[in-house]
Amino acid sequence: MFTFEPANYIENEAKDSQFFVVFEQSILTFSNETFLRAISEDELKWSYIEEIERHFLGYLNKKPCFVILAANGNCELEHSIFIEMRSALGRMPDQLFDVISRSIQIINWSKDHKFCGACGEKMEKHPRERAYFKKDCEKCRGQLIYPRISPCVIALIYKGKEFLLAHNKNFPQGFYSTLAGFIEPGESVESALKREVKEEVNISIKNLEYFDSQSWPFPSQLMLGFFAEYDSGEIEPDGEEIDDAQWFTAESMPSNVPPANISISGRLIQYFLEKK
Ligand SMILES: [Zn+2]
Repeated sequence: MFTFEPANYIENEAKDSQFFVVFEQSILTFSNETFLRAISEDELKWSYIEEIERHFLGYLNKKPCFVILAANGNCELEHSIFIEMRSALGRMPDQLFDVISRSIQIINWSKDHKFCGACGEKMEKHPRERAYFKKDCEKCRGQLIYPRISPCVIALIYKGKEFLLAHNKNFPQGFYSTLAGFIEPGESVESALKREVKEEVNISIKNLEYFDSQSWPFPSQLMLGFFAEYDSGEIEPDGEEIDDAQWFTAESMPSNVPPANISISGRLIQYFLEKK
C-alpha cells in the first residue's frame, strides 16, 4: 500500500527522502522491475545522476518525496533505464499514478516558467509557494506563476443499453474511447461538454451526471468524467478529430478500449457495463 500526502513546502530537514528522476520526457525506472518506484537517498548517491534541480512533492508513505530533473540520461545504478513517460503508463502502480503525474507536471511547469511572460526577465522560485515570480517588477507586478492545470470534460454517452465510443484519427486502428475535450475560457463544465459532443459527433445530450475526476499529465489536464444521456440527432463524426463513432453494447464492444485501471475513460466504460 502507498500513501501520498501532497505538500509544497518542507518544514523540517528532509530525512529518508525518496526521489523520482526525470530527464526530458522520460522517467527513471529499472528494467528488471515491473513497476516504477521512487529511489532512495543511497541509490541517488550511487547513481551519479547530474541533478539540475529538485522539487518537493509531499510525503510518500510519510517520507519526504522529491522529483529531480537530471541533466542527461546517465545513471550508474544497475538495470536503470529512462523510459518515455507515456510508455511508462502501464508500469505505474495505480496508487502511484497521482504522485508521478504531479512529478511530471511540476517539472514541466518549472521548465516552462523560468522567465516572465510579461517583462521577459528571469524569475525566481518563491520561498514558500509553488510559484515562480519576479520581485518588484512593475510590468508583471510580481505576479506568482503557479503550475497551470487545464480542465477537460470526458463523457460516456448512453442510449438505453447502448453507449457511444469514438475513434480519434490519432488512435491506433480498432481503438475506441469516450469523447473528451478542453473547457474553454468562460465556459461552464456542462456547456463545454455539450459543445464538444455537438462538435465531434453532432448529437445533443441531456441528464449530465458527474462521475469522477483524474489528473492526466500529458501535459496538464484535469479530466472531469461524466455520464450523459443521448437526447437527439444522428451520429456524424466531424472528420477532423473523430473519424468514426458508433453505438456499442456489452455484446458488441470494439476490440480495443482504454484499460480501466489508470484511465478514467476505461473506468467510465467499466462502470457503465457493471452498473447501468
Ligand atoms: Zn515580470
